[in-house]
This record gives sequence, C-alpha cells and structure tokens, in this order.
Amino acid sequence: MKHYIQTVFGRGRGSCTATAIACVLDLEQDDVPNFAAFGRLRWIDALAMWCEAQKIHGRYLHASDGDPAPGTLTVASGFGPRYGCIECRWFGLPNETVLDEKGCPRCPRCNTVPAPIRHSTVWQDGKTVHDPHPSGQGLAYPPDGWWIFERCPQDGCGQCGLPGATRERRLRAEALLEEHGVAGGANIENHGATVVPGGDASAARPSEPAGA
Ligand SMILES: [Zn+2]
Ligand SMILES: [Zn+2]
Repeated sequence: MKHYIQTVFGRGRGSCTATAIACVLDLEQDDVPNFAAFGRLRWIDALAMWCEAQKIHGRYLHASDGDPAPGTLTVASGFGPRYGCIECRWFGLPNETVLDEKGCPRCPRCNTVPAPIRHSTVWQDGKTVHDPHPSGQGLAYPPDGWWIFERCPQDGCGQCGLPGATRERRLRAEALLEEHGVAGGANIENHGATVVPGGDASAARPSEPAGA
C-alpha cells in the first residue's frame, strides 16, 4: 500500500476518502478524483462510475454487518477529531472553538455551532494503519463502516462498480464526471461541495462525503 497525505481539507470537501482509496489500491494519488467535490448527494455516483471505469469492485460494509475479513485493507468511514462550521467553513479542533455562556462550543469566526467532520482512514485488522490527514490523529470513534475495493478478477466482468448502482445512476455519474473533466480517473479541482440536508437513497452508506 501507499502512504499518501490528502491535499484538500474541509467539511464535506476534503480528499481523505480519495487519498485512502489510492493508498489501499496502490494507485498514484492523482489517479483518484476527490469524490467529495461532487457534493453530498452526488459523490457516491461519481465513486460508482469511477469504480466501473477502473474495473474495480467496491462495496460498503456497515459496522452492524460485522468486521472486514482479517488482513483486508479497507477505507474506514467515520468521524475524525475535527469540527467544522457549516456557515463560514471554518474547521479545527475542539480546543480551537470558543465556548458560549453555557459552555457549548461555537465557531471562533462566526459563532455558529460547529459539527464533527466525517473522515476516512486506511484500516486493517481493527485499527487505522494510515491516516491521510497530516495530523495522524485517525478517527475519533469506531468507524460506521468500511469501503472495500478489489480489482476485477477478470479485467472487466460487466458488473464492476458498486453493487446496486442503477443504469440511471450510472448515466448521471457519467454526465457528472464529464462535467468535471474526469474520464474515470484524472484528478479534479475542488468545486466547492456544499453540505445540505438530505441523503442518499441507499440508507446503509454514509450520505455525506468524508471531510478532512
Ligand atoms: Zn463559522
Ligand atoms: Zn468486474
């Protein structure tokens, strides 16, 4: 595996997931687009399309369905130790927030209540084995689940991608990747993913992209 450090940071826009995927699949860092940049409701479409184009079988194992098989390198999905502000995009550690009169944390810039930021790490045998964030602090809690990626054993079996990705979703994802100038591979700029309420129809997967 590789040990890359993410290059984009921030709530709902950081490149931790893409960086962790490059690590577990032993790819060049720039070969995995920053899926978070596609936005909260669309990043999973982009991931599905990219897996399909790259002949990768991806799946999400929810923590309630058990642990990944021993030895498997996975991308753990959960919450890192950092907080982010939806209002002004500030992010930092809990001790960098300011406390209001009730002792609750507030954004030091705009006084909005900050929220924990999702994060992804490279995970194996029950622990983070590489944190793409330069702090190296890993996840603050046990992961909600794991993304598991495997190269297609047949170099293209017709079912590469993410299970459950419909034709409609694939077409939507194709248009998205084209719009961002990604042919299932090249790096992309951060297009300012926004964090909005709502979620992905596939309930078991995290609907919000991991942040920083
Ligand atoms: Zn703020
Ligand atoms: Zn396949």
